[in-house]
Order: sequence, then C-alpha cells, then structure tokens
Amino acid sequence: MEKIKSFMIDHDVHSKGLYLGGVSNNIFTYDLRFTTPNGGVYMDCAAMHTIEHLFATVVRNSDLRDKVVYFGPMGCRTGFYLLMMGVEKEATAQLVVDCFKKCLQLTEIPGNSRKECGNYLEHDLCGAVKLISEYLDIIG
Ligand code: ZN
Repeated sequence: MEKIKSFMIDHDVHSKGLYLGGVSNNIFTYDLRFTTPNGGVYMDCAAMHTIEHLFATVVRNSDLRDKVVYFGPMGCRTGFYLLMMGVEKEATAQLVVDCFKKCLQLTEIPGNSRKECGNYLEHDLCGAVKLISEYLDIIG
C-alpha cells in the first residue's frame, strides 16, 4: 500500500502550533498540534474528548460553519485535525483562536449525555480548559 500523506510529515521537526498539512480537492487539512510529537507528554483522553465536543460545537456555530468539513482528535493524542473547505491558513488561524476563546467561556460540555455521546462519562472540562489555554498561548 502507498504511504498516506499524514505519515510523510516529519514528526521530528514538527512542534506545537497550527500547520497546514495539505490541500486536496479544495479541502484544507490543518494540524492543530497541542503537544510536541514524541515529546513524552500527550493529551489526556478525557480532556481531549471534551475539547472535541467544545470546539466542534463552537466552530459549527461560527460564521464559517458551512466551510467546516471535519474536526477530530489525532489518535496519537498530540493534537486535532480541522478540515476546511477552501479556507486559507490566515483565516483558519483566526477562526481557531476565536473559537477556542469561545470554548473557554462555556461552562457546560455540549452533547454530554448518554444519548448524545459514545463515552459520555469520560470528560474533563477543567483539563480541557487548561489544554486550550496553553494552546492559545502558543497560537494566539
Ligand atoms: Zn463524545
């Protein structure tokens, strides 16, 4: 099988931040890298899960909601993928900052019930707030 694009990124030179991973069919794939790859510190599962709920809700309620294709965590727990339809890096970076700031204002986790989520007990709002705040210090 052919190697897929996300495995071609040199994770030894990749650090925390926001990166454009690639563009295909006008879909821009952004890496929202919260921790340094192979740095020994990874996002906690519960906090990462909460960030997914918070950011997905906020970004899908933003002005660019019609351009959002996907948002979700990386399996390696170092960050998230954000897929945007035709949105360049500068506008995406602004969107990400704005949305994470809004996430910090939420006092409840959206979609946090048994009916709405596949693992509704595994959430950590305090942990999510800490990770988001640290990330905003890097990209904000
Ligand atoms: Zn969930």
